[in-house]
Amino acid sequence: MILKKDYDLTSLNTFGISANAKFFVEINQEIDIPELFQLKEFKDNKKLFLGGGSNVLFTEDYDGIVILNKIKGIEILKENDLYVLLKSKSGEMWHDLVLFVVDRGWWGIENLAYIPGTVGAAPMQNIGAYGAELKNTLENVEAYDIESGDKRIFTREECEFGYRDSIFKNKLKDKYFITSITLKLSKVENKNLSYKVLQNYLEENKISVENPRDVSDAVTGIRKNKLSDPKVIGNAGSFFKNIFVEQEKLKKLQAVWSDIPFFKEDLPTQAGEVIKIPSGWLIEQCGFKGKRFGNVGVHDKQALVLVNHGGATGKEIKDLAIQIIDAVREKFDLILVPEVNLI
Ligand SMILES: Cc1cc2nc3c(=O)[nH]c(=O)nc-3n(C[C@H](O)[C@H](O)[C@H](O)COP(=O)(O)OP(=O)(O)OC[C@H]3O[C@@H](n4cnc5c(N)ncnc54)[C@H](O)[C@@H]3O)c2cc1C
Repeated sequence: MILKKDYDLTSLNTFGISANAKFFVEINQEIDIPELFQLKEFKDNKKLFLGGGSNVLFTEDYDGIVILNKIKGIEILKENDLYVLLKSKSGEMWHDLVLFVVDRGWWGIENLAYIPGTVGAAPMQNIGAYGAELKNTLENVEAYDIESGDKRIFTREECEFGYRDSIFKNKLKDKYFITSITLKLSKVENKNLSYKVLQNYLEENKISVENPRDVSDAVTGIRKNKLSDPKVIGNAGSFFKNIFVEQEKLKKLQAVWSDIPFFKEDLPTQAGEVIKIPSGWLIEQCGFKGKRFGNVGVHDKQALVLVNHGGATGKEIKDLAIQIIDAVREKFDLILVPEVNLI
């Protein structure tokens, strides 16, 4: 383990923001964790565990130690005719895990193909896309308490998953280093084609789904067309979460904006809070879509995506985000919440 000082993080975050870490270390194996936890620079400083950097915004230099997680390995824990229990180390790239799974014909995470980042960050916000969420297949999460060094296993229930949310983003924020996850995958066909965009793509391309690889390929195809590639323009995917409102609030909004899009979601949240309003639409109505403000801007095809046109600072992106939050609050009396982790 080599400790570096004043380490440039530009290539380690998909926004491409230039920020330095006071200390930096890369961890490649779980057996190195005790050594890491004993490092004086680890004990004496605030800590940030970094995966693919696809869901962070560095708003300033990081005055602590950044630990780049590269712990890899995939292991079958149990297999029978019905299902497989698969354990993946947290430094694996998420999409590599999806390919490992679909190539074996196992169902469960095919709709989550091509999401950037690592396995270890997936439980942080319960990654979701195309009608699926991580929590549907996750059995447990293994993590180390950053203070005590103790290892703990969190069951799915203990992870307190919600929409782009978990206990690791709330009560236990910055308290645990996630080292592996275990998934329960189905060997029996278990298609989830309920998501309209996915259905349309399959129909238009005359694809009949025979196996999970067909689904992951379709999702990858849609995402490649639709998403802005961070290698081309710096971004972190959706900057804000979608908004959930109660029926009452929806009626009030519809009285003014009769064309407001909404979706009834089957979420295990409090009664009433089940109507999803796409935040991208709200941002678009405030006139931000495609707008550029110096080095930063809002994507011209997806209003939810904030971009670094080149040379932007994290503060510039954050200031734009605040401007958008204020505008949406003013116009709709709704509060946008960032999905991206502001560091
Ligand atoms: C183009 C694009 C498309 C995207 N599409 C989606 C999408 O469809 N659905 C979706 O849910 N997300 C999406 N995202 C967001 C992002 O890909 C996910 O949130 C992903 O899980 C982040 O992984 P990462 O390894 O890059 O995390 P990072 O950005 O490195 O970290 C994110 C947070 O997790 C913490 N963290 C990371 N690893 C660990 C660990 N091992 N232990 C403890 N804490 C850790 C970090 O400290 C940080 O707070 C998209 C991003 C981009 C750029």
